Amino acid sequence: SSYHKVLEENRFLYNQVQDLKGAIRVYCRVRPFLQGQSNGQSTVDYIGENGDMMIVNPLKQGKDARRVFSFNKVFGTSVTQEQIYADTQPLIRSVLDGYNVCVFAYGQTGSGKTYTMSGPDLSAEDTWGVNYRALRDLFYITKERSDSIKYEVFVQMIEIYNEQVRDLLVSDGSNRRLDIRNTSQLNGLNVPDAFLVPVTCTRDVVNLMRIGQKNRAVGATALNERSSRSHSVLTVHVRGRELVSNSILRGCLHLVDLAGSERVDKSEAVGERLKEAQHINRSLSALGDVISALAQKSAHIPYRNSKLTQVLQDSLGGHAKTLMFVHINPELNAIGETISTLKFAERVASIELGAAQSNK
Ligand code: ADP
Repeated sequence: SSYHKVLEENRFLYNQVQDLKGAIRVYCRVRPFLQGQSNGQSTVDYIGENGDMMIVNPLKQGKDARRVFSFNKVFGTSVTQEQIYADTQPLIRSVLDGYNVCVFAYGQTGSGKTYTMSGPDLSAEDTWGVNYRALRDLFYITKERSDSIKYEVFVQMIEIYNEQVRDLLVSDGSNRRLDIRNTSQLNGLNVPDAFLVPVTCTRDVVNLMRIGQKNRAVGATALNERSSRSHSVLTVHVRGRELVSNSILRGCLHLVDLAGSERVDKSEAVGERLKEAQHINRSLSALGDVISALAQKSAHIPYRNSKLTQVLQDSLGGHAKTLMFVHINPELNAIGETISTLKFAERVASIELGAAQSNK
């Protein structure tokens, strides 16, 4: 088939991608067509078993119309929240062994980032996203290990909007701006003035997330939904004391719902909208630069170029583990954003793969 032909042309680079199962993982998730949407042709033509996919662009002709992308995993439209979490779980669990972990949701607005991270309905547990499943799992394991390790779990929730950091767990919805400082004694927690709330069960977390979501919405203007223009970072800090040795371990899990990655038409965006778009572009490319520098083991990692990468500095690189979910909207009118999302994802996986530059 043409899929296999394109894949064969890229065999050399493809193998390199498969070898890249190190600290940085990239998973792609394809959103289903939504109810009431014209059920047109999907731009995702094929999903293979080894983390590869083929995108078809009907606006292009011949060889240029098809392109293979390859990641650690690709999830099709029928994959459930439970299956998504099953492939995330080992990473989450390593937080309890003292690792710092970042999970990102990347994609254009409406591609399913919030669906993956939070889920569509807080009151229906079977639809829960990675955030709630992760916390439920962490509490479960801390109980399981309670004979040997005494764990404490804390939660922080911040938002980064126009390069300003805001606490989402303030009870009065106030707009307190926060500084970023590197606090070496609390590895992974670089916004020391944001509330750090102790939690003991999943219900505590659900209640906090409700507050956080409400605060996130408060800043929204009538014109645009702010949540799609800001990054939200849910940080779970774990402190464990081994009962026999009395030694302390700390781990940090950052669950990051990124701002929508769509490019804004320069001729259309003015004023506040243009400023937002520029901040988002800059911070997403700063994130891409940091991750690809880490993947290439560069000597210099440009953490200082955005608030987002400064906040997460201790949890990107070193012994930390990173997982990025990139989200695809399969509609034809999203093809431009789909290609640019997949190219971004390739860049963070540090491999260029495509018909144009195969190894000939
Ligand atoms: P984003 O956070 O990227 O803006 P959302 O998560 O809000 O996007 O998703 C947009 C819409 O698509 C929502 O109505 C959501 O419920 C739906 N959706 C997203 N992903 C899926 C999925 N995997 N299965 C079913 N519906 C989905």
